[in-house]
Amino acid sequence: MFLNEPPKRENHLPHLVRLKAGQTLTTRLAGEPLRVHTHFATGRTLPCVNSDQTLCPLCELIGPPRYYAYWPIRGKSNQAGAVELTALAEQELLALFPEGNPPFGQRLQFHRPNGRRNNPVQISIPFLEDPHEKARKTEVVPVSSSDVQRTLFRLWEAPPMADGESLEVYLDRIIPVLAVRYAHMLQTPRNTGSIDDS
Ligand SMILES: [Zn+2]
Repeated sequence: MFLNEPPKRENHLPHLVRLKAGQTLTTRLAGEPLRVHTHFATGRTLPCVNSDQTLCPLCELIGPPRYYAYWPIRGKSNQAGAVELTALAEQELLALFPEGNPPFGQRLQFHRPNGRRNNPVQISIPFLEDPHEKARKTEVVPVSSSDVQRTLFRLWEAPPMADGESLEVYLDRIIPVLAVRYAHMLQTPRNTGSIDDS
């Protein structure tokens, strides 16, 4: 009945950003990345549920999962987001900061060249043309990784997290549910095998 905090409004969750061919995004990093293995099946992204306890049916059906990193960002008007990077793109990001991880609030430019939809995303540190940019750097509001998680769970159409439920308990609860869902997909060949090339 009584809540400790306001209910999470779905439309306030971070937006997932996948750059389209030709798209350029200049933004600021706003948190620690979430790193996951996923599959692309039946036209959508689904989390790999392979672990010591669970065999992932999608690994059997369509092969090894793909790695993605979701880096929290703050766009214009402080809008929360998370930019999706492949292993290659994330390597490029980390290579820009050989001394350590990219700092919080770091301004970055992401660009996917025109042409093929799966051209790798290029990342650079944009030139600071605005003398007030440095001052604004401190104003970036963090994007919590649990909010990025909520965005991903919604994308994956996973059962929602209960109020106050810990991530550990939640994952223990939903992973078997997802594994069963995937096993059903395996038994329905017309729904499977759609493998994305992005
Ligand atoms: Zn898997």
